[in-house]
Amino acid sequence: MEYRSYNQKSFTKAEKVKRYLSPSEIEEIEVVSQVFPFKVNNYVIEKLIDWDNYRDDPIFRLTFPHRDMLFEDDYERVKALMLKGDKEALKRVVDSIRLTLNPHPADQLSNVPKIGEKRLSGSQHKYKETILFFPKQGQTCHAYCSFCFRWPQFVGMEDLKFASKEVELLIEYIKAHPEITDIIFTGGDPLIMSTRLLRGYVEPILEANIPHLKNIRFGTKTLGFWPYRFTSDPDAQDLLNLFEEIRNRGYHLAFMAHFNHYRELETPEVKEAVEKILKTGAVIRTQSPILRHINDSVHVWEKMWRMQVEMDMIPYYMFVARDTGAQHYFGVPLHRAWEIFREAYSRVSGIARTVRGPSMSASPGKICVEGTAVVDGRKVFVLSMIQAKNPSLVNRPFFAEYNEEAYWIDDLKPAFSEKFIFE
Ligand SMILES: *Cc1c(COP(=O)(O)O)cnc(C)c1O
Ligand code: SF4
Repeated sequence: MEYRSYNQKSFTKAEKVKRYLSPSEIEEIEVVSQVFPFKVNNYVIEKLIDWDNYRDDPIFRLTFPHRDMLFEDDYERVKALMLKGDKEALKRVVDSIRLTLNPHPADQLSNVPKIGEKRLSGSQHKYKETILFFPKQGQTCHAYCSFCFRWPQFVGMEDLKFASKEVELLIEYIKAHPEITDIIFTGGDPLIMSTRLLRGYVEPILEANIPHLKNIRFGTKTLGFWPYRFTSDPDAQDLLNLFEEIRNRGYHLAFMAHFNHYRELETPEVKEAVEKILKTGAVIRTQSPILRHINDSVHVWEKMWRMQVEMDMIPYYMFVARDTGAQHYFGVPLHRAWEIFREAYSRVSGIARTVRGPSMSASPGKICVEGTAVVDGRKVFVLSMIQAKNPSLVNRPFFAEYNEEAYWIDDLKPAFSEKFIFE
């Protein structure tokens, strides 16, 4: 399939959109996308969305903006200015609305590693063993998101020189830090890059032959939203070859796949892509946030984990939608997220219980809701840290007052102590 992408300016050119959406629905999307621009490709439109039920379709809800993503009066203000064509006033209002949506949640810019005075601005070293690397050309989605999802896209070659400079510093840093065992290529979406460009990053790392570096990971949405990246794209085979080369050098290659709904696992395209990736010796681990309107049901998670195991993938994380963007639209209360997790987890065999969560990626670390309990007549949340900046805090249970309205760690108060263990 030839890649075609649509955004807030061009989405009405897509055949299905023209055929199914009414003028008023198109207008709603136009209004909301002033604040939340979006991007969707022809695979998602043609193969994933069920257009006969698109209003409740999880993939439609995931990719197209929805009126409820804006509060009513914000919606009306944006709509009025948009129809009036007052670009300047519209921009001012849109900017002010975005500022109320916590556009820079904690920790986006911290944990940037340094070599002497030089900052590795494209990296983040938060947990001892693992360095995150954001190749510059894998960042295209950045301005588009109301929570984390990624779009396949391809970029050209002109940045190869830049890549090599960036990766040199990274290698120097990893060499100087023997505690690092993992590198995660993330973004945006690193597999947006052409294979040639990706090689510009990966090959020098392989050449450097760093003895303590054991695991190479790619965090990507590409398998769910553009499986042709691994099957019929012009450089698909070369990408699989690169995976094999990584494996042949003795690394564990972990493909961290983002799937939000089992629908993404159902097409012949994704099945073929998964098989091809696994044949290279890579392991595919899966993760997703729990999102209202998309996957906030036991059935969806149970089925998703079952299908993933059936396809030889390993369920890894359920995340809590973070405190940014349209959290009021996608957010699921912590107690509900945990109930869904627990119930779905109880329905699958141990093989699928590799999954952990629901987990909040907050500044002190990944905080997991282990459950609720009544202690001394008080109802509490039992929490623990799956990952922590301070490794001695990992996997120690701690408590918060039970709160039905809590969506994020900031909404919780410690129980039985003055402070949380990470404070
Ligand atoms: C989740 C995460 C990692 C990886 O954690 P694992 O538990 O090893 O998968 C690394 N760095 C950051 C900043 C993270 O949020
Ligand atoms: S990094 Fe994640 S949350 Fe940020 S824009 Fe890209 S996909 Fe969205």
